[in-house]
Amino acid sequence: MKKLISIVLALSMVLGITGCSQANTQKPSQESAQESSIDGTYEGTGTGKGGNIVVELTIADNKISDIKVKEEHETEGLNEAMSIMTEEMIATNNFDVDGVTGATITSAGFRTAVADAFSKTGADKSVLVSAGKVEKEKRESEYTSDVIVIGAGGAGLTAAITAADNGASVIVLEKMPIIGGNTLLSGGEYAAPGNWIQVEEGIEDSADKFYADILKGGDNEGNPELVRILADNALDGANWLKDDIKMVFEDHMLFFGGHSVERSLVPKNATGYEMISKLNARLTEKNIPLHKNTTAAELIQNADGQVTGVKAVYDGQTITYNANKGVIIATGGFGASLDMRMKYNENMNEKILSTNSVGSTGDGITLAEKIGAELVDMQYIQTYPTCDTQSGSLLYVGDVRMEGRSILVNKEGKRFVEELERRDVISNAVIEQTGGVSYMFWDESAMTDSGMAVTHESEYNGLIARKQLVKADTIEEAAAFFEIDATELKKTVENYNQYAKDGVDKEFNKRGTLVEFGQGPYYIMVSKPAVHHTMGGIKINSEAQVLNKNGEAIKGLYAAGEVTGDIHGTNRLGSDAIADITVFGRIAGQSAAK
Ligand SMILES: Cc1cc2nc3c(=O)[nH]c(=O)nc-3n(C[C@H](O)[C@H](O)[C@H](O)COP(=O)(O)OP(=O)(O)OC[C@H]3O[C@@H](n4cnc5c(N)ncnc54)[C@H](O)[C@@H]3O)c2cc1C
Repeated sequence: MKKLISIVLALSMVLGITGCSQANTQKPSQESAQESSIDGTYEGTGTGKGGNIVVELTIADNKISDIKVKEEHETEGLNEAMSIMTEEMIATNNFDVDGVTGATITSAGFRTAVADAFSKTGADKSVLVSAGKVEKEKRESEYTSDVIVIGAGGAGLTAAITAADNGASVIVLEKMPIIGGNTLLSGGEYAAPGNWIQVEEGIEDSADKFYADILKGGDNEGNPELVRILADNALDGANWLKDDIKMVFEDHMLFFGGHSVERSLVPKNATGYEMISKLNARLTEKNIPLHKNTTAAELIQNADGQVTGVKAVYDGQTITYNANKGVIIATGGFGASLDMRMKYNENMNEKILSTNSVGSTGDGITLAEKIGAELVDMQYIQTYPTCDTQSGSLLYVGDVRMEGRSILVNKEGKRFVEELERRDVISNAVIEQTGGVSYMFWDESAMTDSGMAVTHESEYNGLIARKQLVKADTIEEAAAFFEIDATELKKTVENYNQYAKDGVDKEFNKRGTLVEFGQGPYYIMVSKPAVHHTMGGIKINSEAQVLNKNGEAIKGLYAAGEVTGDIHGTNRLGSDAIADITVFGRIAGQSAAK
């Protein structure tokens, strides 16, 4: 028996050894097979601006053959960065590509997601043999059209479409890889006196009232002639966007600070993407060429000083764009240029973050100034009072304030300003508070009625995750999260509820209807001011012609949008900019096409 066992053992050992030797002989070949083929589909996750980015990476023949985004919550429009990067990753067979300018956080999150997916192959990234490069669009060295528009934000696209509608051939230049500028980042809210929702709700309003509000809101520093044009044409501009451009608006309005009545229209999903995507669709329909990644660097003038074109830089190459009729500058403001901010207003230093697109560097102002244009109001730079304390981004969840449903308190639990005051007034008041921040407080019914957590879901989730916003069952708990004096905060809420019952805010005379705070949960969000709008810029006349230092029009040169000054005075009221870029964008387009 023992012998039998030993034979079996011996046999099994032999077999075992044989099995082992088979395994040993196969292993290297399996490993080399793994090294040589990592084909398959892998999932990976990264964190973008709005939360998780989940991708599915497909490798075929050891090459990146496809990347599908399965989940993302990024800013509409800026999420185009992921398609741009995908194209480059596939073309170069490398996931370590540069991010897209203007979409840094989205780009980083996407890259991490792809790297995470690749890590599941178990292989080193060196197995991806580097391939070709992205074929850049070929450009001529010279182009000619009737009108050249610089800047593909709201003003530029509006001007381009209008010029084309008036019979002109048009080319649009945009320095960024993604169009839209500040307009894309904006809430897209549009002040329109006499609009369709006001009519339905029986709210009395008029161009005259709007005119008075704009002037008063800017401490009567705005140019009455230009303000009149804006006030008189704002409704027509809104109707044009709705009926002609097919922009969709929500069925409610917002009450922005400094306005005497509720008059601000809200585009679909409360983002500027609705405006930019619809204007861009019209541009495409009309076959208007849009040259992205193309930076206007110089205005060309003839011997008479007339502007006849633009020199622009694309991929290191200087291109001449000739304009038979005119050049329209629509390059936006300079809120993202620290140098320019400091040059004109030294209070706007590096300690203050910015809500602006990285492309808002005042290029058009510099170009126009070089050929003798007059600049106005350059020192007036607006901060937005309730921005992210970490990034400077404007916090849309905080729009619950514009619904009249929140209060601002300080660390001591006390209100310190009228919540629907002008932005500059609120910002200045916030800076004076402990830590230079404010805490916005509201209740569950305000959250539900305003729908802010749904409309701006990814921002809301991000704020909770980053501990910038708390939701708690009781006022005490919410206050404790930010170490706010809970006893005082409770007193503040009680007082406010009494004012709501009485119909008068005895402390700050808050405008609009006061609504009592009710049951929890309660919300508190921390925020601080960030640079938001530059009121100053190029001086224009009623035809959107750029004026020189003698007040004469510079022939062939027009400007519209945030790049211009003289309209909003010391301070722009909320939702007046989208009206401004639409009204003056249309005027510039008409004038340049003549
Ligand atoms: C976060 C945020 C929210 C806002 N919300 C609102 C709101 O709800 N309602 C409201 O009325 N206003 C709002 N504003 C203000 C408003 O959005 C802007 O004032 C307005 O959109 C500016 O439009 P624009 O076309 O003049 O400039 P932009 O939209 O900034 O477009 C300018 C374009 O020109 C390009 N450009 C710049 N330099 C060059 C160059 N050298 N060559 C080629 N291209 C160039 C830029 O890249 C950009 O694409 C908001 C602003 C921000 C930042």
